[in-house]
This record gives sequence, structure tokens and C-alpha cells, in this order.
Amino acid sequence: MGVYERLGLRPIINANATLTVLGGSLMPEPVLDAMREAAGSFVDIHELQHAVSARIAELTHNEAAFVCSGAAAGLVLSTLACMTGTDLDEVERFTSEGPGALTRNEVIVHASHRNPYDPAIRLAGARIYQIGNVWQTFDSELRAAINGRTAAVFYFAGNPARAHGALPLEAVIAIAHEAHVPVVVDAAAQLPPVENLWHFTQQGADLVVFSGGKGLRGPQASGLILGRRQLIDACALHSSPYQRLARPMKAGKEEMVGLMAAVEWYIGLDQAELRARAEKVTSYWVALFNRLTGVSATREFPSEAGQALPRVRVRFDEPVQLTGEAARLDLLGGDPPISVAVADESSIYLNPETLKPDEEVIVARRLTEIIRNATPTGALDQK
Ligand SMILES: *Cc1c(COP(=O)(O)O)cnc(C)c1O
Repeated sequence: MGVYERLGLRPIINANATLTVLGGSLMPEPVLDAMREAAGSFVDIHELQHAVSARIAELTHNEAAFVCSGAAAGLVLSTLACMTGTDLDEVERFTSEGPGALTRNEVIVHASHRNPYDPAIRLAGARIYQIGNVWQTFDSELRAAINGRTAAVFYFAGNPARAHGALPLEAVIAIAHEAHVPVVVDAAAQLPPVENLWHFTQQGADLVVFSGGKGLRGPQASGLILGRRQLIDACALHSSPYQRLARPMKAGKEEMVGLMAAVEWYIGLDQAELRARAEKVTSYWVALFNRLTGVSATREFPSEAGQALPRVRVRFDEPVQLTGEAARLDLLGGDPPISVAVADESSIYLNPETLKPDEEVIVARRLTEIIRNATPTGALDQK
């Protein structure tokens, strides 16, 4: 029996996404080996932070890097770094008196970028100053929003469909930099493409935040901040092992070494093969489900958070009596439980990204069974 079974839990097949609520992603062997090895001896944490940062920065063609406890923690740290910089007096004043003691304690965010992760900015003590609306934003609105209290502009690089209404990143960088205000990009789930590890900073973003436990397949409780040396140094000043505000967001030696190994592994991956594997599962599902009466399956691209990977939308229609939600619940309630996302009233998404080898067959078999059970006898054979 495995650890989850001993706890009375059933391991889940993840055909959904790199969701925290399912465990993020699965670490490949080199990452597990690195964490196990890191757990085997004591080390000077400051020195480890420096060495890991230098290695990750080199691998990702960035000036500097910092390992934290998740992308959300990365948003807190980036906010702190932009509010205080590396001025130790500012850092100490903030730590003892709070954000009111700082000159710069506002962060600008597009209205169309507001999302469930942005409270991390407020957790750092900054006030969110919202610009534009969900339909549109003008250059002039960003220019007018920048003032002496502006610490940073945060840009959420997520799903392109949701970015509708925001200024393009290049425009934000140009306007913010004119006023000497840094730009922070949240790219938590924006891998692949691997180039995003350097693309945003090469475009001029000052800091970029990634989740360690999503596309990188590092430790679930890890995050990566990449970018300008001075701001990365400021992130470190607020973080563990110092007893300052971000002390509760500690990344341990195992996460630091594990995430470094994950970045090495991810950069060394054959990206074409990664993509080809997802395409193969996609084609398999599309062909298989399109053979069923009342079912249509289509390849969709990009994936849920805008990643350069395909996924499949399976739609149920007459004579199949199945809603997207009913299919999701049936899959989750079965043995083994399978997690998928609901696309709309009558369709679901199947995502190959988070599957272990051959699990696509189990998903196909279970969903076919559910579709048969939801179809009047004989109707399935008509196509
Ligand atoms: C997942 C996600 C986060 C949080 O990432 P963690 O590593 O789980 O903390 C932050 N922002 C966005 C846009 C995300 O998708």
C-alpha cells in the first residue's frame, strides 16, 4: 500500500492541469534524487542560496534568480523588493513599522488582470491601484496612475484570452521605465515554451515569477523569481533565513536544490518530443471519441493557461444525455478517480500534460463507459 492508501485516500489520475489542489505536478527522477541528496547534509543556507541562484540564472540567461516557496510567495517577495529595494534602512523600517513607513507602497494592476492570486500584493502591504477596465486600457491611464508612491507595475501573463483589455507588455515596460518604475511579470504557469524563462526579462521585465510545481515539475512548494540583480537581492533581504516579513515563506535546502535540478532537467528536455507526446495523446483521444455517436472531440491550442501544448475538448450531444459537470463528477467518482475540467454545459477538457505514461488509455476507457451509460441502448452504434 502506498502512503496515500494508508491514509485512506485514493491517488488521482490528473487529466486536468498543474493544479495545486491536485498536487501541482509530478517530479521526475533527477529532481527527486537531488532533493534526497540535499536532505542528507547540513549546509550554509546563505551560501546555498547564492550558488543555486547563480546556477539557475546562468541556465535561464538571467542576471539573477531566487528560489522561494511558490509563485504566490514570489509575488509577495517581488512586491516587497520593489517597495524597499536593497536599502537596508528601508527594509528595517518596513519590517518594524509596516508599509506606511515607505514612500513607495502602491502597485499598479490592469483591471482585466485582477485574479485570485493578486492578494499576494496586498499581503506584502502594498495597495493595488487598478487601471483600465475589463474591455480596454489606454496608455494615458497607466501614465496617470504612476506617481511618487508607485512601487511597481504587475503584469499577469496568463491566458491570452484573459489578457484582452490590457496594454501589451512592451507598452507597459516602455511607459513604466520612462518613470523608473519596475515591471513584474507573473508567468506562474507559462511553460512551455521554455523560452519564457528568458523571453520576458529580455523584453525588459525587471522580475518574472514562475511556479516551481507547474510546468517545471520541481517541488510543489517552490517558486522561481528571475530578473535584475538588485531586485533579486532585495527579495533575499526580506526572506528566510532572515527574520523579516517573508520569513514564513521559507524554501528549504531540498526545495532550492530540487528546483535547480528541475530547471536543469526542463532546459535539457527535448521540447519537440514533449510537444509530440502531448500531440500523440491528443490525436488518440480525438480519433477515439469522434467515433462515438453524439460525441465530438476537437484539439484545442494553447492549453488552459496559454501553455504551448494541445488539449482536447469533448462535447456531448444528442443522443448522449450527459452534461460536462456530470461527466466530471462521474470520472472523479470512479475507480481510479480521474480529474478533468469542465469546459461548458455540455463539454469537458482532457489535458495530456499531467498524465503518467499510458494513463490516456484509462481515461479513454472510463469516459467511453460513462458515455455509453448516458446513451439510450443501441444509439451509440449508429455512427
Ligand atoms: C498557479 C499560479 C500562481 C501561484 O503559484 P504557486 O506556485 O502555486 O504559488 C500565481 N499566479 C498565477 C497566474 C498562477 O497561475
